Amino acid sequence: DVRVRFPPSPTGNLHVGNVRSALFNYAFARHYGGTLVLRIEDTDVARSTEEYYDNVIDSLKWLGITWDEGPDIGGPYGPYRQSQRTEIYQQVIAQLVESGAAYPCYCTREEQEQREAARGGDTIGYDGHCRTLSAAQIEAYEAEGRTHVLRIRMPEGEVAFDDLVRGHVAFDTRHVPDYAIVRSNGEPLYTLVNPVDDALMGITHVLRGEDLLSSTPRQIVLYEALARIGVGSGITPRFGHLPIVMGEGNKRLSKRDKGSGLEEYRERGFLPEGLMNYLALLGWSISDDRDVFTMAEMAEAFDIRRVNANAARFDHKKCEAINAAHIRLLSAEDLAAQITPFLQGAGFVATPATPAEKRLLVGAAPLIQERLTCLSDAVEKLAFLFTADEELEIEPAAALKPDEEAVLLASRNALVDADWDHDSIEAALRSALVDDLGLKPRKAFGPLRTAVTGSKVSPPLFESMELLGRESSLVRIDRALA
Ligand code: GLU
Repeated sequence: DVRVRFPPSPTGNLHVGNVRSALFNYAFARHYGGTLVLRIEDTDVARSTEEYYDNVIDSLKWLGITWDEGPDIGGPYGPYRQSQRTEIYQQVIAQLVESGAAYPCYCTREEQEQREAARGGDTIGYDGHCRTLSAAQIEAYEAEGRTHVLRIRMPEGEVAFDDLVRGHVAFDTRHVPDYAIVRSNGEPLYTLVNPVDDALMGITHVLRGEDLLSSTPRQIVLYEALARIGVGSGITPRFGHLPIVMGEGNKRLSKRDKGSGLEEYRERGFLPEGLMNYLALLGWSISDDRDVFTMAEMAEAFDIRRVNANAARFDHKKCEAINAAHIRLLSAEDLAAQITPFLQGAGFVATPATPAEKRLLVGAAPLIQERLTCLSDAVEKLAFLFTADEELEIEPAAALKPDEEAVLLASRNALVDADWDHDSIEAALRSALVDDLGLKPRKAFGPLRTAVTGSKVSPPLFESMELLGRESSLVRIDRALA
C-alpha cells in the first residue's frame, strides 16, 4: 500500500515550495488509492509556534488538500506532532546506541576546527574522531564534565538509490560525514526524527524538493539501521526529488521573493484550484497540449515518473493566466459568491449581503468574468455599481469634452422611455446616436460610459446600465451634464 507524507515544520507560513510538495504527495496518494499522512515537524521548539501550526492546517484546507492521518484527525501511527513523540524518540535513540549504529561524540567545536586546520582546512566535516572510543575514554570524557552529541556511523563505500524523478543517484560516503542526530542537551534533530517517523509510520515513498537530496544518503543509512534493529516498518522508502523552483534572476525561489508566500495568493483572491493547477506545472504536465486541469484530473493522471528533473521557473504571468482560466470556468452564481467577500472587504456590500445585492452580484459577475486575473480585481471593476450616484467620481482622464454634451443629452432623451433591458437600451441609443446623429459608435457611447461608470473603461455598457437601473443611469447622466 502506498503511504506518503507531508511533513511541514511550523516555523513560518506555508510557501509555494511546500505547497507543491504537498500537492504532488496528494496526487500520488490519490492516484494509487494510498494514504497521505500529515506530520508536523515541530521539534525545533524555539522556532515552532501554534500560530504557524494553525496556519498549516488552515492553508491546506483552503487549498483543498485532504489527508488521511494527521494531528487533527488522528490515525494508527499517532501522535502526528513530533513535539508529542519525545518518549518514542528516546527509546529509538537508546536502541541505536546499543546496536552501535550511533555513537557519542565528545569533541568540542574548537577541537574539530583545530583538526580541520591541521588537515589543511578541508571541509569534509566531522572526521570520525570518536567512532572508536573505548569505555575508559568515554569515562574520562564524562569525568571532565564534557557533554556529547550522538552521531550516526556512516558505512564505507557508496549509498545509491533509484530516484523516481532523477534516476540512479549515488553518493560516495567519504563525502558524507558521520552526522549528528541528537544534540548535547538530548534533543533529537530533524536528521533523526524525520526518517525515524517515516519508518514508524510505514512511509513507502518520499516526494520532496531537490534541496533535500543531499540528506537522502544519510537518511537511507538510518532507515537501514532501523530495519536491522527492528524499529518500524523495515521499509526504506523510494525517493522522488522534485525539481528546484527558480524565482527572479535565475536564483532559487526564496521565502523572501514576491509570490512565494501562500498568504499573498489568498489575499489577492486566487482560486485554490487555479493556484494548485499552476503549482502542478512546476515539474509536471498533464499532456503537451493542455495546461488547465483540476486537482481531481491531476490525481487521476499523475505519474511521478513523468516529473521533469530540470529546474522549473516560477512564472507569475503564467500563474495568473492559469488562475484566470479557472475563474472563467465558474458559474455566475459561484463567481458572485467568490467575489462577495472582496466587495464586502471594500465596504461595497453588506455582511451578509442583502437579497438585492446578491441579485446584483449574480448579474454583474458574468460581465467581468473574462477580465479577472484574481477575485480581488472585481472590486475595482464593479465599484461603479456599488457607489451611490452622488458619490460617483469621474476620472479626470474621462472628463466630458464640450462637444460631448450634446451627445449625452441625446442619450438621455433616448433612455427616458426605452425598455430597460440591455438589448432595448442598445437599440434606443443606436437609433438616436448612430442613425439620427450620424456618430461612429465609439464617439457615440464614450460620453455615456463616462457618465455612468466614471471611467473610459468599464464592463459592457448596456448590461451595466441594465443592472444599474434607469433611475440611477439618468441621475448619473444629469450629474455629468451639470
Ligand atoms: N520538515 C521538513 C521540511 O519542511 C521535511 C522535509 C522532508 O520532506 O523530508 O523541510
